[in-house]
Parts: sequence; C-alpha cells; structure tokens
Amino acid sequence: MTNEERLAQVQAIEYRERHMLLSLGAVIILVLVVGIGYFGSSFIKQRIEAARIRAEEEARAAARPGIDALTHQSLAISSQTNIISQITTTRVEEAKQRAQQEAEEALLASQCPDGYAFMEYDLDQIHKGELQLINKDHEYYFLESDLLSLLYDQIGGNYYLGSFNLQLTKNTADHLHQMLAGYYEATGDENILVLSGYRSKEESDDLYSEESQNIGSEYADSYTMQGGFSEHHSGMAVDIGNFSTGSYIHEYEDNVPWFFEHACEYGFILRYPESKQSVTGIAYEDWHFRYLGVPVATDIYNKKLCLEEWIENIHEYSVRDPYLITLDDGSVYEAYYVPGTQLSENGLLNVPVPEGREFTVSGDNVDGVIVVSQR
Ligand SMILES: [Zn+2]
Repeated sequence: MTNEERLAQVQAIEYRERHMLLSLGAVIILVLVVGIGYFGSSFIKQRIEAARIRAEEEARAAARPGIDALTHQSLAISSQTNIISQITTTRVEEAKQRAQQEAEEALLASQCPDGYAFMEYDLDQIHKGELQLINKDHEYYFLESDLLSLLYDQIGGNYYLGSFNLQLTKNTADHLHQMLAGYYEATGDENILVLSGYRSKEESDDLYSEESQNIGSEYADSYTMQGGFSEHHSGMAVDIGNFSTGSYIHEYEDNVPWFFEHACEYGFILRYPESKQSVTGIAYEDWHFRYLGVPVATDIYNKKLCLEEWIENIHEYSVRDPYLITLDDGSVYEAYYVPGTQLSENGLLNVPVPEGREFTVSGDNVDGVIVVSQR
C-alpha cells in the first residue's frame, strides 16, 4: 500500500467516524428537541390547567357569601311561609271555634234553665237598683229620686238627725233605723248623729267647690265626688256622726268598731276601707256606709272585698253557674250577672229569673244587671 493509499484510507476512516459522530449528534439533538417539545408543552398545559382551576376556585370563593346569603334567605322565606301558613290555619280554626262558641252562647241565652223564666226589663234597669256601682268612672243617672223618704218621719228616739231634711231610699232608711236600734241595744250609746244621706247633683257640686276652695281640690277629690259621681245621689249611702263631737264617727272612738262588724247584718258595708283606697280611689272614710242588702253586704264583709271588686267578680257568673253566698245563719243565696246586650224580641232586657222564689234584679250601673235570690 502506498502512502497515498494509506492516507486515503485513514481519511476515509476519519470521514466515517466524523459522519457517525455527526449523525449521532443529530439524533441526540433530535431526541432532545422532540423530548423538550413534548414535555414543555405538557408542562405549559398543566400550568394553564392549574391557573384555570385556581381562577375557578377564586371565583367560587368570591361568590360563596352571596350564595350562602341566598341559601339563608330562601330557607328563611320557606320557614316564614310555613309560619304564615300555620298562623292562618290557627286563625281560621280559632275563628271557627269562636263562631261555634258564640252560636252556643246565643242558643243558651235564648233558653232558660229549668226553674227559671225570662222577664223583660227596660234598658235603664242597668242604672236602677241597690247593687249599682257609683264612683269616678260610673256616673249615677238620677232615675230613682222619687223613691226617697224622710228620715224624720220614722225617727225612733235613740239617735239624732243632722237635719230635718235628711232623705234616703225607703229600704235604706228602714235598714238604717234597724241598724241604729241594734247599735243602741248593744252599746247603750245615744250619741249617734246621722249627718248626711241623699244629696242632689246641685248640693254635691256646691259641696265639692266649697271644699276645693276652702281646703284644696286634692282634698275634695279624695273625699267628695263632683255632681253625678257621688253615692249620696242614690239615697243608699249614709254618713254617721257623733252628737258629742258634732263630727263624723271614727274607728278609734268607743263603740264605733261595732258598726264595722255588724253593719253587714243590716245590709250595709263600710264603703271606703283603708285597705282598698287604690281600688276605690277614695281616702279611708270610717263614717260612710252604703246599703247593698244583707246577702251582698255580708259576702263583701266576709271576703274582705270592696264593691268594685265584687261587681267585677260577679261578671263571671251566669244563671247556669250562679255565685253562691252562705250567710252566718246557714241560708244560701245565689247571685248571677246578665249582660245588658241580652235582649228580647221586643228590644227589652231579657233576664232569666227564678220561678216560685223571691228575687231582686238590680243594675250594676256598668253594663248589665245582677239577680239575687234565696235558694
Ligand atoms: Zn259619705
């Protein structure tokens, strides 16, 4: 082999080796390019996906309070709807029950229980009779002044009259006379002085303005009533005094407590007790007595009530469920209220009264009448 041939051989080998190296390099570069391209694009895709998910989550997070609030509102609305529907159902049910109750009451009111019969009364019966409540809220209507009688006509000799003109209703005068006779019999005291009975509206107004001017309107309001609101108008109230002092009796004087304990046996109550000032609105008057008849006066005394409380209580009792009063002698009375709205076909008060028994029907001077009868 010549040197030229050898050289050419070496060159050929070198060329082949270079070519192989170049080819290998190209392959490696190709593989790298393809690999980088593949993995790069997948990495970018992942980044994009991640960003998208993050954006979605952020959007969802931003919307969450709104969605929560809406959910709450819709829950609240649905619960309100439930409540409203419950209330409506209850109201309808209540209205039905009320209508039924009213119908039953109307039916009962149109019928009398056994042993009772309806009796018709004029509507002004509400403002007549011995159980009338007369106070600052309930004015007296002056319907019965023709029933007054002069005390002077029946004076018995064991008490004094403050004036020849003193008047009371006939029934009140009779019972006062009996009470003062009982007092004299028990105590031997001849000093009782009847100071005042019936007062006209004009006399009341004069007395009120006289007291207001002389002592002050606060005093006048505590002890006296303006015309129309005084029990003295009814002729069923009496002020008791002492002839020796020339003034009203007082609880600390000898014998006076006898009246507190025994007045009810004659049908009278101490009308303005010390313990009831907040109810009566009148200061303690240990001299003012009111005639109500024995059963009611005794009940008020035994139960330690005042007239306002007794009248309120009797409103709960009807002819079918009367209030019972037992007197000390064991006799039993029943009392019940009849509303002034219970009218007959003639437009008159339709009052169930006992058949074959004595009874009284008195207005309460508020809104109805009260029937009292011995059983
Ligand atoms: Zn009085």
